[in-house]
Amino acid sequence: MSTLEIRNLHVTVETENGTKEILRGVDLTVKSGETHAIMGPNGSGKSTLAYAIAGHPKYTVTEGTITLDGEDVLAMSVDERARAGLFLAMQYPVEVPGVTVSNFLRTAKTAVDGEAPKLRTWVKDVKGAMADLRMDDSFAERNVNEGFSGGEKKRHEILQLELLKPRIAVLDETDSGLDVDALRIVSEGVNRAKEGTDLGVLLITHYTRILRYIKPDYVHVFVDGKVVEEGGPELADRLESEGYDRFVTAKA
Ligand code: ADP
Ligand code: MG
Ligand code: MG
Repeated sequence: MSTLEIRNLHVTVETENGTKEILRGVDLTVKSGETHAIMGPNGSGKSTLAYAIAGHPKYTVTEGTITLDGEDVLAMSVDERARAGLFLAMQYPVEVPGVTVSNFLRTAKTAVDGEAPKLRTWVKDVKGAMADLRMDDSFAERNVNEGFSGGEKKRHEILQLELLKPRIAVLDETDSGLDVDALRIVSEGVNRAKEGTDLGVLLITHYTRILRYIKPDYVHVFVDGKVVEEGGPELADRLESEGYDRFVTAKA
């Protein structure tokens, strides 16, 4: 059992016009086996929350706490967070020139587990996961994210999710830019990662459509740097029909 607990989180970034507060008191708890959807309009700070959990140096936590099973996540380096079982799939994955997918995955797996994976089972696992995600074998020899299409980037993120076996996964707009088929394949990958494990998922999205494939237990509406409403899956249906307007006006 793992619990990711975010309490009164305030985060700022440095902009050309000075320091800007983006997260303004986020409270959120994600436990093993639970799937939480964070839904909010563009610019509400969803990616900032993901970056703060991941430990991106550009985002400064000015107040509040993030803990994983009581351990202070904010005191951990990015690597330590990964070893502790946190996984982040970025909205905009970065290119890693000169590093193949195959090497990248093996290095990441070794870093997370603290030992290199057994070669035979590893090769089999990678091939199996790639086949499940309808990725051609040749994909393993391409450089990470270099010239990847939007769909390939997202599949590569889910490939990592399936192979690294984190305890809590934060998926930032894993649905963005995907056509219906790719969305289904990527969603099935997330569901496979959840199956038979107690993976906790924090699914960040702007649109409700991914929630047709990945069923959330809880939905949080995120506006202007904080959670303004919480509920079950029915809240997503309401957002689908009503949009975010009501919540945006409500805060003004
Ligand atoms: P979302 O993911 O919900 O669309 P973001 O977290 O990306 O929102 O951004 C929230 C707000 O913070 C936006 O107004 C965005 O322009 C601003 N912001 C985020 N990161 C930076 C940054 N590195 N520098 C300047 N502004 C930023
Ligand atoms: Mg955005
Ligand atoms: Mg975003």
